[in-house]
Amino acid sequence: MKYTITQIKGGTDNCYIISNGADAIIFDTASGENLQHVKDECSKYNMKLIVLSHPHFDHEENAEELSKHYRIPVAYNEKDDNIFDDYNSQPLKSYGIVGFVVLKLSLKVLAKTKVARPENRLFVKEGDTLKDYGFPDIKVVELPGHSMGSIGLLVSDDVILVGDALDNWIKPGMGHLYTDIEALKMTTEKIRSYGKRTYYYGHGKPTEKF
Ligand SMILES: [Zn+2]
Repeated sequence: MKYTITQIKGGTDNCYIISNGADAIIFDTASGENLQHVKDECSKYNMKLIVLSHPHFDHEENAEELSKHYRIPVAYNEKDDNIFDDYNSQPLKSYGIVGFVVLKLSLKVLAKTKVARPENRLFVKEGDTLKDYGFPDIKVVELPGHSMGSIGLLVSDDVILVGDALDNWIKPGMGHLYTDIEALKMTTEKIRSYGKRTYYYGHGKPTEKF
């Protein structure tokens, strides 16, 4: 099946609409101030599902509103459910100068932003496909490290959406913020093991390699 992937830029964060023509899913939802922009893009499709790479505000904040508006579930990994109670249940650290700056800016907002646990939620895990939502060639992969329940999507055999497991602030590579750096290193190798794909990041432009 042929899919189109549309990047929606909301400030520094990205979300993505994956469509087979008429139907679509959205991977991440950007932060609150981007709601109208995200809705405008979604309105071009018959929306089937919202998938969250992980529930930090810059990926999650519009999920509940979109879920209610389109009457569709929000899929995420149960291992991140505790972030809805308190983001500090999985505190973030960083490496490098880029990581230091990003973390400093993020923490200010993370601390004061309470993300709403979606009412219509669906737990997904490694190996699940989205065939029930019309996308049999999209598969969930667990990418722990940034958060312990971070997930990505393998799309056909040539694309992967990685959330914050990798990022491309300046150049593409392992994500600069982590809950568990050893897990994130293993995740980075796991992503490499899928072979050559186009990489879509939570932050930064897509690339053909990393
Ligand atoms: Zn994050």
